[in-house]
Amino acid sequence: MRPPGILIVGGGITGLAAARKLAVEARQQNRPLAVELIESENRLGGKIRTEREDGYVVEGGPDAFISIKPAAMALCRTLGISDHVVGTDPRHQKTFIIKNGKMLAIPGGMTTFVPTEIAPFISTPLLSWFAKARIGLEPFIPRRAADGDVTMAEFFTRRLGRAGYEWLVEPLLAGIYAGDGRALGLAGTFPRYLEMEREHGSLLRAAFAARAAAAKAPPPKGPPGLFLSMRDGLCEMVDSVAAAAREAGVTISTGTALRGLVFESGGVRADLGDRAWQGDAVLLCTPAFVSADLIAERAPVVAGMLRRIPYVSTVTATFAFDQRALIDASGRAVSLDGYGFVVPRPEQRQIIACTWTSSKWPGRVPPGKALIRCYLGGAGHEDVLQRADDDLAEVALGEVRKIMGMSASPERVWLHRWPDAMPQYLVGHPERIATLGERIREIPGLHLAGAAYRGIGIPDCIQDGEAAAARILS
Ligand SMILES: Cc1cc2nc3c(=O)[nH]c(=O)nc-3n(C[C@H](O)[C@H](O)[C@H](O)COP(=O)(O)OP(=O)(O)OC[C@H]3O[C@@H](n4cnc5c(N)ncnc54)[C@H](O)[C@@H]3O)c2cc1C
Repeated sequence: MRPPGILIVGGGITGLAAARKLAVEARQQNRPLAVELIESENRLGGKIRTEREDGYVVEGGPDAFISIKPAAMALCRTLGISDHVVGTDPRHQKTFIIKNGKMLAIPGGMTTFVPTEIAPFISTPLLSWFAKARIGLEPFIPRRAADGDVTMAEFFTRRLGRAGYEWLVEPLLAGIYAGDGRALGLAGTFPRYLEMEREHGSLLRAAFAARAAAAKAPPPKGPPGLFLSMRDGLCEMVDSVAAAAREAGVTISTGTALRGLVFESGGVRADLGDRAWQGDAVLLCTPAFVSADLIAERAPVVAGMLRRIPYVSTVTATFAFDQRALIDASGRAVSLDGYGFVVPRPEQRQIIACTWTSSKWPGRVPPGKALIRCYLGGAGHEDVLQRADDDLAEVALGEVRKIMGMSASPERVWLHRWPDAMPQYLVGHPERIATLGERIREIPGLHLAGAAYRGIGIPDCIQDGEAAAARILS
């Protein structure tokens, strides 16, 4: 008798994490299982894409995973690569926000984007006295009467005032989703802030309490800091999960797209183009709109729900410079002392953020070089993607030159386009996903996981893939 067969579709981090978990656990439980993973592109990793070239390590997609969500670090430990995990360079621990075209440092002592140190907050030119006073009044703003979801903009404007939202919160939080805080729901994106309000009645009080608790807690395992990466780029994690999955018996095929699915009483049949697959269950780790097309015939209502999860497009443009070329109009060296800057919406710029990669991460450039990465596109800025590659790079470079006050020309340019790449968790997203989950359970042999559902970050995707593997096994 053939062993039960599971097809995992999509070789991004979700699909890979699911495949490894499924095969390893089945082996540990002595349960024969044939796991196959297919990926339509000729490489694995999906949105995770590292280019290594002549001593440069360039991240085309994500450049970090956060340490406070443990799934990514836990996976690295399981894979035996935790010694390759690197933290951001502590010497340059500073991020800037652009205001009126100038780079202003985010005030020190900000815990989860809420100020917890008085002196740097009082002295920052980022906010007017009125805006600072309004933030200071935050503990006196009553809790929300309603319990449901709310837009990021509505929640933070009510608690911190409009300037606090526009200049501190939106560029940093909505920026993670390349989204618009007026549409993103807080329950799906950052439920922690809703809890902070619910439990403490105030974000400031909650942030002070969290700081006091953190001071007493034992130091976290692994490199310090909120943002982590891998020594040779995030593809190291992809390669390592893929190797572990293969080792556990998973068959991985790249350049193989799923074209159609037929759900039968005895299992599932899949059209893979030049061959057919037959088995017991399929786990779709593809973007929601792709999954929608694949199941539209069998489950049109679920497909409709999946199609209603909107996506936005982004681009990263990375420039390598000779450090000596980074000088301002008066011939002084331009400082790269920091991790880069974010650009608030009211500034109406063409870039939404810029990372000084060679300052943020160790070992990403050959000696004497600097690497600067721009982030473009996102909600309200997607028209920039209509431009041709050269033009797009020129736009990004022009913005960086203006903001940083220099005219240097890059020695190398890398451009990565990400059409329909970032799912947008609108108000009510978690409830819709719960309903979606109920509907999916009614279709034997169908499972979904990935960035569209319970978190877009790398740790969320790993957790979602592994949870799907556990569901399939049970
Ligand atoms: C520019 C950018 C920057 C980001 N920055 C960060 C960051 O710093 N930190 C962070 O944590 N997250 C970040 N993210 C988000 C994070 O990278 C993604 O949410 C995550 O990698 C998605 O993983 P996934 O496996 O769910 O989906 P994907 O990576 O999209 O993988 C899905 C895979 O399915 C394949 N596929 C599609 N259709 C088919 C088919 N029919 N048959 C077979 N295969 C198919 C695709 O080719 C793809 O490889 C960023 C994303 C982008 C785009």
